Amino acid sequence: MDETIKQIKDPKLLLQIERVVPFHGYLATGAFIGIQMFNIAKRVLGFQDKERIYVTCETYNCIPDAFQILAGATIGNNGMWIVDFGKMAVVVNRQVLADVTSARGIRIYLDPAKTEKYPKLHAWYMNTEKVPHKDAISELLKAGEDVYSYETIDVTIPVKSTKCVKVCEQCGESFVCHGEEVLCGTCTDT
Ligand SMILES: [Zn+2]
Repeated sequence: MDETIKQIKDPKLLLQIERVVPFHGYLATGAFIGIQMFNIAKRVLGFQDKERIYVTCETYNCIPDAFQILAGATIGNNGMWIVDFGKMAVVVNRQVLADVTSARGIRIYLDPAKTEKYPKLHAWYMNTEKVPHKDAISELLKAGEDVYSYETIDVTIPVKSTKCVKVCEQCGESFVCHGEEVLCGTCTDT
């Protein structure tokens, strides 16, 4: 893997890798894809470093970590939402003013019609053979943004519901409620 990283000349990309690796644990192909997707989103939407952005990841695998560390869009600060469709895809939008219900966003995905030109990467993506991360990342470095497809879309901003806290009538623990319910989620499910 060190060999692969040595091929990288772009200091900005190296710095991003240095930040993502300790957070994710190693340079996984998916984490690298997350970095490239972040850079596409940043360029197309024109947001700045440290600017608040919102991300919907269509997979739990790897990609969220790149956005959590590079954009600070985390699960805990509600910047990161994961809808697990098992897709290498993200939707990103910038912060909007209060009361604005729609934002310009971008949806980016790793396009299988485009990865075909890169056999190792494609085999990794389609899971047809065991491809070491260094081989898949080597091809991603060659491809750059060539293997992604994206479109700008309107993202609906969810209306913030007012938060109310109740003590569950069954277990006696407090929970955030969304309506008239008197039991917490745990007690409702059992
Ligand atoms: Zn309860």
